[in-house]
Amino acid sequence: MPHPEPLDLVVRGGTVINADWQGAADVLVGDGRVRALVEPGACPPDAIRRAGAAELDATGRLVLPGGVDPHCHVGFTSGEFTSLDDYHQATTAAVFGGTTTIVDFAIPRPGEHPADVVALQRAKAAEGLCDSALHACVVDWDDTVPEQLRAVVADGVVTVKMFTTYRGETMAEEKTILNVMTHLRDLGGMVVVHCEADHIITDVQERRASAGAIGAGHHATTRPELAETASVAEILAIAESVAAPVYFVHQSTPEAVDLVARARSRGVRAFTETVAHHLVLDDSAYAGPHPERFVCCPPLRSSTTVAGLRSRVFHGQVATIGSDHCCYDTAQKESARHDVRAMPNGLPGVETRMPVLFGELVVERGLPLGRFVAMTCANPARLNGLYPRKGVIAPGADADFALWDPAATHEVRATGLHMATDYTPYEGMRLTGRPRTVVVGGRVVVDEGRLTDPEPRGRHLASGPLGPALIC
Ligand SMILES: [Zn+2]
Repeated sequence: MPHPEPLDLVVRGGTVINADWQGAADVLVGDGRVRALVEPGACPPDAIRRAGAAELDATGRLVLPGGVDPHCHVGFTSGEFTSLDDYHQATTAAVFGGTTTIVDFAIPRPGEHPADVVALQRAKAAEGLCDSALHACVVDWDDTVPEQLRAVVADGVVTVKMFTTYRGETMAEEKTILNVMTHLRDLGGMVVVHCEADHIITDVQERRASAGAIGAGHHATTRPELAETASVAEILAIAESVAAPVYFVHQSTPEAVDLVARARSRGVRAFTETVAHHLVLDDSAYAGPHPERFVCCPPLRSSTTVAGLRSRVFHGQVATIGSDHCCYDTAQKESARHDVRAMPNGLPGVETRMPVLFGELVVERGLPLGRFVAMTCANPARLNGLYPRKGVIAPGADADFALWDPAATHEVRATGLHMATDYTPYEGMRLTGRPRTVVVGGRVVVDEGRLTDPEPRGRHLASGPLGPALIC
């Protein structure tokens, strides 16, 4: 057989879909990694048996790299609310949805040092069914921050989240963002920013509250699109001024994406992330019977905005698509539905990200499979310093992949999902295409929709310097 030893698993008869190559190939796996891609049939079944390897029949299946979710909050505390999952639950849900790497956040609370929070959070990776990486987070500037940034980068965390909203919690001043960008630029890292202009939102929310229109049904109107546009423009100007790379999380409007695209054309190393719910759901959800279940920041936008955002995805202006997974349940969401300022923000989504995007963008609207893999697997790996270990099926990469049945239809039901909550914002949505068998580090963790290996073996992934990934 044309392969290097040892050989533990052969995935036979499938069509491999990478971002930049697709075709019929058998995948040879040994020691947790991809050893080789070979012509179909180059490994006959009796030879596989003689080598002592297991075999997966992927006939009729697409073999995709395991998804890399660049935006995932696990057990996240905000105000009085903590989201309901731990690493074992979040990664179990992830693998059922075809995602085999998550990037979580180490967000300090007042008085905590970013580097300490990273150290605490990275220890949780071992509870996972799959590997994970982290974004650090800086809120306030002081003399210790440069040394802490050096420490987190040395610890393999090269991305730092910053917020332009949530004053008094996680919001950072513009000068702090500028300072962190400058230091990270020299360390081979990158700031990732949640952009919504806090002063605009606070003012609008106060006026809406005075008018008695601050409940969950009014959520979209309390965080206007122009607050996002204004903040993105400001942060892009800072990045351009100090020649630092910058990544915008969950961009929700075409205007915000266009600002990034124009900056890129001037040579700014700027990147757009969108998230699944902003591409599939719209603000009509706030007029429904359970508006609180859709409260996230930025909010769901109008159907016109959603169509504009989707068109940016199809025209190559979006680098990555994450989930912004945050696993609250309906009781938590309902408890503060009278006032969006007190609500827990965020939607469960680590499990539904890949199937929803596959069904809605690839099957329904014709997004090429390579682009789907680029935005959900390869680019998130690149922009988090994890490529080519993750995000691609190629010799040397970790053997993380999912066998998709591209024709299987199903209806999304919360009761059929594995996230630590009792609802999904996609309840009742009919989708075509789903991952059926999922391999993590060469182990078959999900087989034909059943969990076959629940043992936690997750690793914290040390990210490499971003360097070449940031070339526009
Ligand atoms: Zn988030």
